[in-house]
Parts: sequence; C-alpha cells; structure tokens
Amino acid sequence: MSEEKRDFITITLKSGHRKSIMRHHPWIFSGAIAGFIGKPTSGETVLVRDSFGEFVAWGSYSPKSKIRVRVYSWHEGEMINRNFFERRLLKAIDYRKQVIDLKKVNSYRMINAESDGLPGLVVDKYDNVIVMQVLSAGIEKWREVIADLLMKITGVTNIFERSDVEVRKLEGLPIRKGNLRGNVPEDLIKIEENDLMFLVDIREGHKTGFYLDQRENRRTVQDISFGKHVLDCFSYTGGFTLAALKGGAASITAVDSSTSAISLAKQNLQINGFDSNKVNFIVDDVFTSLRKFRDRGMKFDLIILDPPKFAPTINLVERASRGYKDINLLAFKLLNQGGKLITFSCSGAIDPELFQKIVAGAALDAGVNGRISKRLFQGVDHPVSLSFPDGLYLKGFVINID
Ligand code: SAH
Repeated sequence: MSEEKRDFITITLKSGHRKSIMRHHPWIFSGAIAGFIGKPTSGETVLVRDSFGEFVAWGSYSPKSKIRVRVYSWHEGEMINRNFFERRLLKAIDYRKQVIDLKKVNSYRMINAESDGLPGLVVDKYDNVIVMQVLSAGIEKWREVIADLLMKITGVTNIFERSDVEVRKLEGLPIRKGNLRGNVPEDLIKIEENDLMFLVDIREGHKTGFYLDQRENRRTVQDISFGKHVLDCFSYTGGFTLAALKGGAASITAVDSSTSAISLAKQNLQINGFDSNKVNFIVDDVFTSLRKFRDRGMKFDLIILDPPKFAPTINLVERASRGYKDINLLAFKLLNQGGKLITFSCSGAIDPELFQKIVAGAALDAGVNGRISKRLFQGVDHPVSLSFPDGLYLKGFVINID
C-alpha cells in the first residue's frame, strides 16, 4: 500500500491541550495525549486530532521520549513523504542562500532541526562533506531518504553521520557514527571562515566538529581586538583566538581543559601563518586558571568566556547559574580599566534575561560597572523559528566596563 493511501494511526489530545500546538509549537508531550486509535511504531507518522476529533497535525511518534510527537505539518492535505522532505530541505537551503554569503563561507549549518521544520535533524556542511545528526525517532525512519535527497540537492557525495549523542537514548535510539554516503577521508577537513582557515575533526570533535554557531561572534571579536591583550577561555580549537589574532591582538592567552582541542588550535595557528609567540596556550580547568591569574595579579583588555552548556536540563539551572556567576565575577576582576568582557551561555534552559541577571550580579560583586555594548546570539544559519522559541540557546553580551 502506498504511503498516501493507507490509514494512519490517530493520536487524540486531551481537551485543553490543543492551544500550544495550534500556535505551531512542534512538540506534543506524553501528558497531552488522551489515547490512540491503533498502535504506532517508533518514528511512524501519526495523525493528531483534538478532543473533538478535529484534525490538528501530522507528526512523528517517539514511544520512549517525553516529547511523544514531533509535528511535521499542520496541513491536513500535506503527505509526509519523500517530496515533503525535499520541500523542507530546499526551503532551509534557500534560507541560507539569503542570509549567508556562500562565496565567502563554505561551512555552515544547513538544517537546524525544529526551526527548519524538520524536528530532530541537524545537517552541517564542512566544505564538501556533509555531517548529519539524527536526534528523533521520526528522522531515524527517514534517514536514508534524507541522505539521498541531500546528495541530490547539494551534489555532495560524502555524508558522515554523527548520531553519537546522549539525547538519542531518550528517543530509544542507538548511538551511531560513521560513513552514511560515500567514503569520507580520514583527514581533518579544512574550512574557511571570516578569511581564516580551520581544521575540523568531524569524527571526534565536539558537536559535528566545529562551533559553527559562533561565526558571527568571532567576527565581532576580530573587529575589537586590535592591540589588545586577550584572554580566550574555553578556547576549543582556537576559534576566538584566531579571530583576535586576525584582528591584530597584542597577545592571547587561550585556556581549555582538552589537550586535543589545544593541539588542534596550535595547528590552526600554523596553517594561517600566525606568529605563535603571540599565543600562550594553556591546558587547564578555567575555574582554576582564572583564580591563578587573579592571584598572580594578571590583567587583560578583552576576555572571552564561551563555556560548555552548564545547564543541560532545566533542573540544573541553579547550579549552572552559580558556575556562570563564578567565571564572570573572576573575569570582571581580571579586566583592565576600560576593558571588555564577551560572555556567553549556550544553555537553552537559561534565557537571555536570566543570563543578564547572572552577569549583572557578577559585576556587582566584582565591584565593576559595565554597559552592554552589543547583544550576541547564535549565527543566522542556526535560526530560531518564531513558533519555537526553545530554539534559542546561544546568547551573549559584549560588556564595556568603566
Ligand atoms: N569558543 C570555542 C567553543 C568552546 S566550547 C569556539 O569558538 O570554537 C567549550 C570548550 O570548553 C570545549 O573545548 C571544552 O573542552 C572546554 N571545557 C569544558 N569544561 C572546561 C573547563 N572546566 N575548563 C576548561 N575548559 C573546559
């Protein structure tokens, strides 16, 4: 039987639970479901009806996750088939053509999951290799079709899968990593960003290999680094360090706890032909390093704090807030008069307002007065759908202190 003709399993919502979904928020939690007609399998496309039996949406079923259904479409006539995925992929790629100068940027996020109407699908492009990450049972079911479509649409022949993330366990999906299409060479991939080159390890690197979401913010750092003594905390493979060097920084201290990240940062310095004497790479815990710098009376003109996600879930917000406050307080104390702090949080559970409060508290305790000269967010290729505010995770401030 063709996908178009068969009967779909129906999920009925409890009364009073259609409001959020009618505003096109794409998640239906298990608690909103009154019952089923039929028994859906993992990732199966289901028909969602309200308590009056009216059509609400098409979605994919995740038997293990609290997010039981992820919505694909709010149009009753829209079939969830190969053409549907092709349309969504084309829309997402067309958006990138609008917002990024693809002559200058060869690596970017091509598909940003829910915000591109494809819940659970992340696709990043690194030069001529695509890295795909499957985070939902629904996308898992369509994974081969999507891989074929990506090849057809982009002309890219090498697709690597990085479905090796913990959240897949919540979906009841196995960890998977390896070639999905073609044969991706073992070598590091060289990408270009803001007239800089970076080596990316798509196999072992964080996320899909690189923090593509900071591209525009690295540009901001480049623009304000001239002649500055810079401290790049949580430097990873040197994204902000290289941006500061490009911008003419006088010196840079880069700290990260990962030996492999720092070693790749050193290679990145080399391939761009920068003077390695300008950079002091330190493998250490940032919480410890900042205290050492304070005890030695060291000072900087520009400090960047780009820590990992301190609050992976909502119940860790309080502990995370203390972590953010600690590093921001120490950083404020290490700044010269007139210095700048660029501070980020990539925890989705901490919204910009709360983050501002934490940073303000840190400044107060450090005894400094600051002004927000710029607000920063994840890059344009990591869009936030209007109906999915949860998609905003990365926020930051440039703070000029007195
Ligand atoms: N700024 C980077 C991305 C930072 S990601 C860029 O633009 O590419 C966060 C980094 O923090 C990772 O490299 C991780 O190794 C490092 N890290 C995590 N916890 C740390 C800690 N306590 N001290 C130092 N580094 C840490």
